[in-house]
Amino acid sequence: MRLSSHCYAVTGLGYSPPWCVNAGFVAGDEVTLIVDTGANRLGAQSIYGYASAVRPGNQLRAINTERHFDHIGGNSFFREQGIDVWGHAEITRTEAEFQEEIAEYNAGIVSAARRKLGEASAFFHGTELANPNIPIRADTSFELGNCAVEILLTPGHTSTNLSVWVPEDGVLFTGDCLIVEYIPNLDAGAPADWQVWLESLERIEKLNPQVVMAGHGHIARGPEVQAVVDRVRRVLRESIARGASPTAAD
Ligand SMILES: [Zn+2]
Repeated sequence: MRLSSHCYAVTGLGYSPPWCVNAGFVAGDEVTLIVDTGANRLGAQSIYGYASAVRPGNQLRAINTERHFDHIGGNSFFREQGIDVWGHAEITRTEAEFQEEIAEYNAGIVSAARRKLGEASAFFHGTELANPNIPIRADTSFELGNCAVEILLTPGHTSTNLSVWVPEDGVLFTGDCLIVEYIPNLDAGAPADWQVWLESLERIEKLNPQVVMAGHGHIARGPEVQAVVDRVRRVLRESIARGASPTAAD
């Protein structure tokens, strides 16, 4: 889906229902920056197909908005194509963690017969763990060819979260710093992290984005952007006051 003159979203990629996950890309005259790589190899192939079709001659570069597997699962596919994957320096997932993710995914399958067969292996077919090969430790910027992009650290959901801001287009890719419709996932942190998350929301708000692609959910535009920020902020404040996330008892 085209969002603006340079920005595109690849929404609704597969993940554990009811969650689907988003990826996107920003195409300059010379470089196309892919934002998140999907949860698995199949998702990565879709993202790669769209990004390559929009500007076939461009060099490709990928970035992860955070450390969770639904945003980095396609990294190995991109690395195999010789494409650099940028990401926060603290994204260092282990093979044991990846195997745990697959086991958890399998445990979530409703049908006992499918669980027993380990059908998670179909979802993760050909998917291997690959951490980003270029670490990011501070805000940075990319010049994609007549299109400047800012990479902004927006921690809170995890310490590794970053957002991709395209000022000329007013488009912001937030990863899971913002979530549309779903209850935000606070379970990766504690109240101190949620306080940091609130600061990241303030940062995002000041940019005054016209279009937001969050890590999950539909694309927010115009006045809905503020409503999405306000909703996540409200959940964070209530959780800080209560000392527990909304999904803590699950
Ligand atoms: Zn996510």
